[in-house]
Amino acid sequence: MYPELDSNLHVAIAGAGIVGVSCALWLQEKGFKVTLIDKNDPGSGATSGCACTLATYGCIPVNDLEVLDPSSRSLFGVDSPLRIDPWHVFTHLPWLIAFMKNCRKPKVEYTTRHLASLLGKTSEGLMPLIKRAGTEGLLSNTGFLDLYETQSEFEHGLPKQRRRAEYGARFQELDAREIQELEPAVKPTFHRGLLYEDIVHVKHPQKLVENLFEHFLASGGQHIREMVQGLLHTEDGMKIFMCSKRFLRANRFVICAGAHSRKIEGCDVERIPLGTERGYHIQFAGLEHLVSRPICWNRYAFYAVPMQLGLRMAGTVEISGLDKPKTPERIEYMKDKANRMFGLSEQPDSDWLGFRPTLPDALPVIGASTKAPNTYYAFGHQHLGLTLAGITGKLISEIVAGEKPSMDILPYSANRFK
Ligand SMILES: Cc1cc2nc3c(=O)[nH]c(=O)nc-3n(C[C@H](O)[C@H](O)[C@H](O)COP(=O)(O)OP(=O)(O)OC[C@H]3O[C@@H](n4cnc5c(N)ncnc54)[C@H](O)[C@@H]3O)c2cc1C
Repeated sequence: MYPELDSNLHVAIAGAGIVGVSCALWLQEKGFKVTLIDKNDPGSGATSGCACTLATYGCIPVNDLEVLDPSSRSLFGVDSPLRIDPWHVFTHLPWLIAFMKNCRKPKVEYTTRHLASLLGKTSEGLMPLIKRAGTEGLLSNTGFLDLYETQSEFEHGLPKQRRRAEYGARFQELDAREIQELEPAVKPTFHRGLLYEDIVHVKHPQKLVENLFEHFLASGGQHIREMVQGLLHTEDGMKIFMCSKRFLRANRFVICAGAHSRKIEGCDVERIPLGTERGYHIQFAGLEHLVSRPICWNRYAFYAVPMQLGLRMAGTVEISGLDKPKTPERIEYMKDKANRMFGLSEQPDSDWLGFRPTLPDALPVIGASTKAPNTYYAFGHQHLGLTLAGITGKLISEIVAGEKPSMDILPYSANRFK
């Protein structure tokens, strides 16, 4: 089932986000010659703007009826963390139906279990890469704080926290006084909190990818500044075509283009229903001292994160596709929460829209294409790509090398969409 391969094979990778670069480093470790193809700077896609958290507690998907409660009056209002563009519903109905179908309890249990299996390997996947690149200084181990304004909100969230705990998340409950002692800059409107002490965050995700990428180059990796258009199998091997019409020969090809992966011709042969959950951030330079750790205002899915670039406020889910510009009301939503949480009424220094790569069942695709020979997929990590990139790269390297993967990869197979 797992034939032995020649490790001198040339592997090409489309996409130099955290997932592509992690795959590249793990493949190099196995002795492969690796070329990363991306026109954009490494880590400048979704990875650059994320909420920076190695969210090992995040095993419960967004498409869970306890999270997406349609009976909740606040779900579709302007003050909701979720916005669905009606035109997008009209044009992408099958994806949305599939996404909603996965809200059913048995599906959520299945997704939770298999996200938790991957999340349990976060450290094993990422830390060897970070250590090899000597970039541990970008990590901060001050934990993560989840905040609730009222007792009823807190109690509403408890089943979810219990499920997280069943899968290994550890946290302690805090009262209003303890929250203030830990985070005095947060307005004293929060009644209860949960402190996840062992959570780590990255102080600058794009710099992390840049440092890993430098290490990749220093270890003999190649980089081509192009966009991949598609791949073609000919009698004399695999050719990867760039949008510039040039091509590269390779023996193996890994697609890690995040939310854009499906645009690569050859990937679509599987009909993988990749969609996107758009997310936003605003940033205040020089205000990182206001918090000591990532803090989530649970009700609004709003994260405040201290990072090297300042204080970043990130979050929300917008279902509106890849092509539409930022929705100004979403930026206003973020500013409003920044004001209510910290009294920050000034304009942020920057705002950002990014694209989470999301499959309807909220599990990534990690593994071989079932149709295109010698082609592998590593995308669809939704809210958890920073966290899961390392283990994804490790698994891809094992699969490409023809080894037995170090964990069961069947739940992440492209086959599941047949
Ligand atoms: C607001 C927000 C907050 C988030 N917070 C967190 C968090 O706290 N923790 C966490 O774990 N995750 C978080 N995420 C999710 C995380 O950011 C993503 O899952 C992750 O960055 C995806 O990484 P990637 O490498 O797959 O994609 P990307 O980082 O988007 O990289 C894809 C790369 O592919 C390239 N590309 C595209 N098309 C082609 C092509 N045709 N040829 C070659 N290259 C191509 C792009 O240029 C890009 O560089 C958050 C996301 C958002 C939006």
